[in-house]
Order: sequence, then structure tokens, then C-alpha cells
Amino acid sequence: MREYDIVIVGGGPAGLSAAIKAREDGIESILLLERDRVLGGILNQCIHNGFGLHTFKEELTGPEYADRFVKQLVEKNIEYLPSTIVLNITNDKILTIMNENSIENIKAKAVILAMGCRERPRGSLNIPGYRPAGIYTAGTAQRLINMEGIMPGKEVVILGSGDIGLIMARRMSLEGAKVKVVAELMPYSSGLKRNIVQCLDDYGIPLKLSHTIVEIKGKNRVEGIVIAEVDEKLRTIEGTEEYYSCDTILLSCGLIPENELSNMMGVEIDPVTRGPVVSDNLMTNIDGVFACGNVLHVHDLVDYVSEEAAMAGLFAAKYVKSGMKQGREKIVTIPRDGVRYIVPKYIDKQNENEKITLRFRVLNVYKNKNICVYFNDEKIMTKKKKILAPAEMEQIIIKRDELKKYGELKEIIISVEDAE
Ligand SMILES: Cc1cc2nc3c(=O)[nH]c(=O)nc-3n(C[C@H](O)[C@H](O)[C@H](O)COP(=O)(O)OP(=O)(O)OC[C@H]3O[C@@H](n4cnc5c(N)ncnc54)[C@H](O)[C@@H]3O)c2cc1C
Repeated sequence: MREYDIVIVGGGPAGLSAAIKAREDGIESILLLERDRVLGGILNQCIHNGFGLHTFKEELTGPEYADRFVKQLVEKNIEYLPSTIVLNITNDKILTIMNENSIENIKAKAVILAMGCRERPRGSLNIPGYRPAGIYTAGTAQRLINMEGIMPGKEVVILGSGDIGLIMARRMSLEGAKVKVVAELMPYSSGLKRNIVQCLDDYGIPLKLSHTIVEIKGKNRVEGIVIAEVDEKLRTIEGTEEYYSCDTILLSCGLIPENELSNMMGVEIDPVTRGPVVSDNLMTNIDGVFACGNVLHVHDLVDYVSEEAAMAGLFAAKYVKSGMKQGREKIVTIPRDGVRYIVPKYIDKQNENEKITLRFRVLNVYKNKNICVYFNDEKIMTKKKKILAPAEMEQIIIKRDELKKYGELKEIIISVEDAE
């Protein structure tokens, strides 16, 4: 059986960044596995610009951003296998991989999970009506247009205002389709503000908040849809129904981290993020198994994916070199009042990284509030925010030295509070 120090599952921005950092930290034996034909992950279909503002201080398209990392991977001579899927993985880090040449088992000292996420399909949305052709997730439509050269339809309604849906509203318009409306169940958009302005407002596409599809018309192909307003309990309000004729429905209703492999090996999953529970070294409950990128939690910007994944690469390298194990003494991070989740869930007192980045999302849209950080019961940080929204990831950086001052520190709490 072939053996590697580090095996990385997924060749998107997370996997690429983790591989490069591990090599820079001196690990020679690395294998990166990608089931698609090419490296780059979801970025290959994101041909719009807006990537890399933090990392490269310029606006790149998705493929351009990915290419910068792929070039480094090649320069550093890191071994990778495209068109190769990981079918199975055990908790003693034996991976079953398959490509057109073979099915084989390989053994790793450390594994980095970087499988990304996928969109929620119609089956998980409970929309009544027939099952006609013409219903796609926004990401599938994006791949069809941008990579396969296939136009999914001409008259479009989009359900959900996630970023992929917003970007596809613009893309479909640019390709000559008429995007009639974007219906969003929640009273706020789940996409970034800049995408609402650049992808809907600039194209005169209406966004109907607190609306959902109540009926899909058409037996063989979508012919139209009925949308209706919902109340604060998300129940449809009778008498608010509106009909739109269309041949295509795009669904942009949330992303689910791809954790089938994590489940197979017994990685503990957080029910809120639906990604692995990790410590600040991005190690899961299984020693030597790390997670980063969208498989860990859904990120808004790819720059943060690359940054987080580099940390996973660095810690995986440290694990290989020193056999670092989970520490016994951990500080738990607790989301409170208005905070939906925090990653990482634990800060391991034995780790040595100077800066600890806590990434989190809020539960609702808030204006003029404070983000407050508590060490046990003591408030140690207040950050004023004009606006907070679930679509935008927030982060707080904590210095390890500050933690050391609190010998008995058990928990770090983050909450959203009224500004005094
Ligand atoms: C439509 C859209 C627009 C976006 N716009 C922006 C933007 O403007 N700016 C920005 O900063 N960010 C944007 N993002 C976000 C950014 O693209 C993601 O945050 C980033 O791609 C996540 O990286 P990842 O490596 O975690 O996942 P992915 O890019 O999804 O990569 C995961 C990879 O793992 C592979 N994989 C999964 N399972 C297996 C397996 N079993 N075996 C082998 N390989 C496997 C997949 O094939 C995939 O290539 C956008 C995302 C989308 C979808």
C-alpha cells in the first residue's frame, strides 16, 4: 500500500492552499486528490471577478485566483491526482481511491478534509407541484453555462437569494435570458450586499423578500410559478399569490458541507455548521485529521478559505513532525445572543499559534450593535458594528498571550448586544 505523510481530499482553494503550506513547512510526501478533471474546485465555474481582494489586493476571476495556487502547487512539485475520487476513508487513515486506471488503498499519517459543499436540491425544499424539466440549482446552471456552453433556459425565476443565485441572475441576463424575479423566504437576503447591488439592482431584477414558491406549473417543462408572501412564522399569506410565466427555475437555497467521508471515519459534526467540530489547530476529534474551507463551514470569501486552509496545512505538517495530539485542556467557544455559530469550537491550551481567529455568523440582520467577547464572565472586547448580516462572515482575532493571563479560562463567549 502506498503511504504518504499528508493526503488532502479536494483540490479546490482549500486543498490547494493546505498542500502548498504543508510543503513550505517541509513536508515532502504529500498527495492531493481531486475528483474533477481539473484542480480549482468551484472557482472554475465562477468566471465573474471579485476574488482575491484580500489576498492579492486585486479583483480576479475565480479561475485566475485558482490558477495562482495551481501554479505554486506545480512549481513546488506537489503530487496530485485529478479525476480521482475518494470513495472511502477509515479512522486509521486508509483511503480508498478510484480513477480510470484503478481502485487502490493508500495510507496517510495525516488527512486534510477539503471537500467543499454542495447546494440544497429541490428534494429538500418541499415545493408542491409536478416534477417538470427546467429546475436547476444555481450552481448547476452556472456550470452548464460557464463550463459546458449550455444555456438552461430563457425566462427565469430564482428561488433564494444566496450569492450563487444572485450571480446567476446577472449571468443569465448577460446571456440574453429574462430574469423575472428573485423570491427569498427570509425577510433579508442570504447573499452579500455587493452582489444584490451589482447583480440585481444594476439589472432591474426585483428581489421579493419574505416570498416563496407555492406552486410550479407545467408537466414536462416548467411553464410558470406562483409565489406568495410569508408571515413572520414563514406561513404563506392567502391572497398574496402572484403568477410568473417562466421556463426555468434556479434554486439558491443554501449550501451543505460535503461530509459523507467525514461521517464514514467518525468525525464529530457540528449540527449548526454541518461541518466537523475542530480545535484552533483545525484538527477534528480524530488525531491527525484536519478540516478546512467550505467543508468545515460555508465561507463568504475565498480569501478566508485560503487563509484557514494554510493553517490546516501548517498544523498537519506539525502533526506529522511531532505527533501532536489533542490537548486535555481546552477552552470552549460559545455563541450567545444573536450569534449562530463560532469556528473553531475549541481552543487547545497546548497549541502554540500566536493568533487565534474565531470566525462566526450572526442569526439576523442587526443595525448599530456591538459584538462583545467575554473570557468566562469578563467582557474583554467590544467591537462596534453599523450592520451585521447572516450573509457576511465575521471574525475576531485573539492573541494567545491574552489567554495565558487567564489561568482558569474555560469559555470564550461571543454575543451581539445593544450599543450603549
Ligand atoms: C457561485 C459562487 C460565487 C462565488 N463568488 C465568490 C466571490 O465573488 N468572491 C469570493 O471570495 N468567493 C466567492 N465564492 C466562494 C468561493 O468560491 C468558495 O468559498 C471556495 O471555492 C471554497 O473552497 P473549497 O476548496 O472549500 O471548496 P470547493 O471550491 O468546492 O472545492 C472542493 C473540491 O473538493 C472536491 N471533492 C469533494 N469530494 C471529493 C472526493 N470524495 N474525492 C475527491 N475530491 C472531492 C470537489 O470536486 C471540489 O473540487 C463563490 C462561490 C460560488 C459557488
